[in-house]
Amino acid sequence: MNKEYALGIDIGGTNSVFGLVDKNGEVVFEDSIATASCEEAINLVDAIYSVLEQKNLLNKIQGIGIGAPNGNFHSGSIEFAPNLSWKGKIPLAKLFSEKFKVPATLTNDANAAALGEKKYGVAKSLSHFITITLGTGLGSGIIIDNQLLYGHDGFAGELGHIRVIPNGRSCGCGRKGCLETYASATGIVRSINELESNNKHDSPLLKLTQPQATDIFNLAKQGDLFAQEIVNFTAKTLGESLADFTCFSSPEAYVLFGGIAQNGEEFTKKVKQYMENAMLIIYQNKVKVLTSELHHKNAAVLGASSLVWK
Ligand SMILES: [Zn+2]
Repeated sequence: MNKEYALGIDIGGTNSVFGLVDKNGEVVFEDSIATASCEEAINLVDAIYSVLEQKNLLNKIQGIGIGAPNGNFHSGSIEFAPNLSWKGKIPLAKLFSEKFKVPATLTNDANAAALGEKKYGVAKSLSHFITITLGTGLGSGIIIDNQLLYGHDGFAGELGHIRVIPNGRSCGCGRKGCLETYASATGIVRSINELESNNKHDSPLLKLTQPQATDIFNLAKQGDLFAQEIVNFTAKTLGESLADFTCFSSPEAYVLFGGIAQNGEEFTKKVKQYMENAMLIIYQNKVKVLTSELHHKNAAVLGASSLVWK
């Protein structure tokens, strides 16, 4: 039997998505498992194994690429991920490779998304860009000179934990004011309670029992002033941060990926506007803000799978 597929896995705070991908980036099989339903990491390994066993796909896998929060490329471990219930250091690449009997490589989930964007997405022709993933948290993957930046110990690019508001919101990392506590699916929902506004009391947002990021975008489109304030505040916090990040690696573009970015052009345009307003003059009008086109294909699964072909 030909081992023609890479198993790409994107471990998220909510769901873990996995897919079999061929060398052309075609996903031939995809499924997902609720991450929180797996008490230990090994339960997730076993669950994915049994799904693929039932589908008779195990012997077609050449290797495994994993994107995970706080995933360390060098050690193959997830280390102290604030958005996962698994604590401490988990040697995930080793667990997968022992179970599946094929090589497994692990990287940070946002790094995997950047690799997917470079190989199959809007960044195909770009040599310098930063992918920003707006999920449960905010992740980033930095590409410089066509190379992913890992840093000395494999943790480069944790832009979600740059502190943007002094003594601001408490973050899962134990510190305060991190960007991801404002610009992420959970951050935008926190704004419903934590943002001061005169328009607050009339807003239907306060009447929802479990409001989601999409409710805020929908109500903003329908003209709710408080929802519009939240969207603007989120775009401003993110856009001004992107202006600052530009000083570091002078990227050609930022690629926004994930739940919030899927709300489309309007949000991306606002982020770009706030970024330009705050930008150092030498960078003005040179840096694009793009929206990923891989949402429906899952850039992180594709990117994780591309680790196998290297
Ligand atoms: Zn933080």
